[in-house]
Amino acid sequence: MSDSSLMNGENGLKKVTSLLPTNGGNGSYSYFKNSYYQRISAIFEHKKISEEIAEKFDVEDLSLSKAIRIADLGCATGPNTIMNMLNIVEAIKQKYEANKCPAIPSTRPEFQLFFNDLVTNDFNTLFKSLPEDRDYFVAGVPGSFLDRIFPESSLHFVYTSHSLHWLFKLPAELEEENSPAWNKGRVHYTNAPDDVADAYKSQFCEEVRKFLDARAKELVGGGMLVIIMSGTPVDLPLSSTANGKMFEFMASTLMEMVREGLIKESQVDSFNLPLYQSASPEEIVDIVERNGCFSIERLELSKPSSWLKGAAVDVPAWMMHARAAMEGNFIKHFGSNEVVDEVFKRLTKKHLDHSELLPQWCNQDVQLFIVLKRKKIISM
Ligand code: SAH
Repeated sequence: MSDSSLMNGENGLKKVTSLLPTNGGNGSYSYFKNSYYQRISAIFEHKKISEEIAEKFDVEDLSLSKAIRIADLGCATGPNTIMNMLNIVEAIKQKYEANKCPAIPSTRPEFQLFFNDLVTNDFNTLFKSLPEDRDYFVAGVPGSFLDRIFPESSLHFVYTSHSLHWLFKLPAELEEENSPAWNKGRVHYTNAPDDVADAYKSQFCEEVRKFLDARAKELVGGGMLVIIMSGTPVDLPLSSTANGKMFEFMASTLMEMVREGLIKESQVDSFNLPLYQSASPEEIVDIVERNGCFSIERLELSKPSSWLKGAAVDVPAWMMHARAAMEGNFIKHFGSNEVVDEVFKRLTKKHLDHSELLPQWCNQDVQLFIVLKRKKIISM
């Protein structure tokens, strides 16, 4: 696991807590091998994306463009990103076929796919897994998607799944022991005092604001932005969702380990996971409207767990997924692989002990599906 010093702290600047990438490679704890749940919850939205493209992707405006440029922001190491990008490519190809224009000799566009993630992401694993006989061009774009990472008006379609609910930075108040947002004995804002939840919320709003500002510059007029991320109805407490319960169990597991002398209490108090998982549709509408450059084409909350269709949750597999996505944060903070092994072993047991409640915790509207369109840019 790489450290985050490339992004901060090296030049005598104030050190901020930065996000760490998902587990690289393709070993047992890798994201590559443990991202099946993210995969099926993205597939859950594929048909809707194709419908939106068929209805609203403005191919007439784009027909003189030599290549359609599509970016996946927060692509991780694969394999989900490739499948998600190809779903978009396929839908655009079909749209082109349906709109064939005799005046233009070659109506078949070329495609250029950009894969973005943090500089510390394991891009090699992703690039090695790309099919050799592909009919599209690819490029990696390292860097935070909260900033500009593409030239102005250069993208036609931007996609991002399960990435925007990660906070790039933890709110500074969480790291100050005397602050009302000092999150004693917890690892997240689930069940925390309002000061903690408010600090997370304002950091999230600030990051989404930056994200939209950057995309507004990079997308062409009529270009589309599809976001899949965690969310909840405004009145649903996170503690009644599967993720909220997991954060509660993480905190109680760590506190057990404090009592057994395996870690220090101060280490738990200063540990917070950089995830905001309760964005409500109303909150998103507010941020998009303040930005002013996008129209909201579709905004839905849904139950990604409907794929379970009554089947039992595979707890060990789910815990491996959580570990593949977040263990870097644990290792960096607690400094030992053994501690992380112990945390996830106990966490798995705690979930198994509550398995009769899991279907209820999973059966909630916790996935946001957002389709935005860049308003036409009127040149003076
Ligand atoms: N989209 C993939 C991966 C989701 S995991 C999928 O659906 O399977 C979340 C990814 O988002 C991680 O790889 C993380 O590094 C990336 N990410 C989070 N915040 C980011 C940021 N500000 N800039 C770039 N990548 C980011």
